This record gives sequence, structure tokens and C-alpha cells, in this order.
Amino acid sequence: MSLSLYKKKRNFKETPEPLESSSEDGNNLKFVVQKHNASHLHYDFRLEMEGVLKSWAVPKGPSMNPADKRLAVMVEDHPLDYGNFFGEIPEGNYGAGVVEIWDKGTYKPMKNQTKENDEKLLLSQLKKGDMKIILKGHYLKGAFALVRMKYGKGNNWLLIKRRTSIQKMILISKT
Ligand code: MN
Repeated sequence: MSLSLYKKKRNFKETPEPLESSSEDGNNLKFVVQKHNASHLHYDFRLEMEGVLKSWAVPKGPSMNPADKRLAVMVEDHPLDYGNFFGEIPEGNYGAGVVEIWDKGTYKPMKNQTKENDEKLLLSQLKKGDMKIILKGHYLKGAFALVRMKYGKGNNWLLIKRRTSIQKMILISKT
């Protein structure tokens, strides 16, 4: 857990982005999705873990359709306060462009216990490259998988909505 790469990329005299994680609050782990209209439009998917936001850039954005497998490229950890950030990163700065909050809420692992144990489980899943989580946002709701792809530099993941038991039953009845 380190924000050094995050800080190295940015000039905080010029960008309005937050410098640090100020504090954790509440009993639930948070997630946020930011629509980032930088040189290439993408969506930043961020999960609170060990006092920072683990972050992935999702070019096409998350989807609620289980048939969509969305590429999610892991990027540097961001401070927790980034979850509240929206605004314009000025021209000439890293990630210059407009950031909007597209969705936010809480999340937990599929097999959840307490917040402390949740984080341990999530961190081990992150290491393994196989996360199974439940999102509780405005647009994104329900079970998702975040899976590291075998090839590439290890930063390429897939974000996939998991089918509900009803969707699974319909699929089985069709075959
Ligand atoms: Mn971004």
C-alpha cells in the first residue's frame, strides 16, 4: 500500500486532485466509478482496500450484462479521498480532463464476515487475481468477478457481472 507512484505522477500545485487519504469512515468498504474524459475516455473502477483505493481503468466502463467481459487495466493506488473527487484536471497535467462520479456505493466479498476479515479475504483474492465481490451502488448492483488475465504484463484484468441464480436457471432451461 503506497501512494508514491500516484504522487510522482502529479503536480499538486496544479491539479485539484487529493494528495492523501485523510481517514476511513463507516463500517463498509467503499467503491467508486469515475467517468474520466482524458485523452481517451475511460471509467476508473476503484475499490477501498488497506486504506487506499485499488484502481483499474475500464475503457468501455462496467456493464450489468453478464455477457460483457470488460477489460480493466490495473493502475496505481489512489488515496481514499479520490472517491469524492470530481472536477477538471488542468491541461498539461497527468490525466488532464474532466472527472465525474459515475457511480459509488459499498462493496464486500461474496463470502463476507466482518470488515476486518473482509479486507483480508479481498487482499488474498487480489493477490491471486480472482476477486468475487458484491457491489451496492446506484447503477452497479450484485455480484461481480474481477479476474486477472493470464497473459500480458499482469495488469490486465476482466470485470464481469456474475449471473444471478434466476439468470442461471433460465440459461439451463434453454439448453
Ligand atoms: Mn483515469
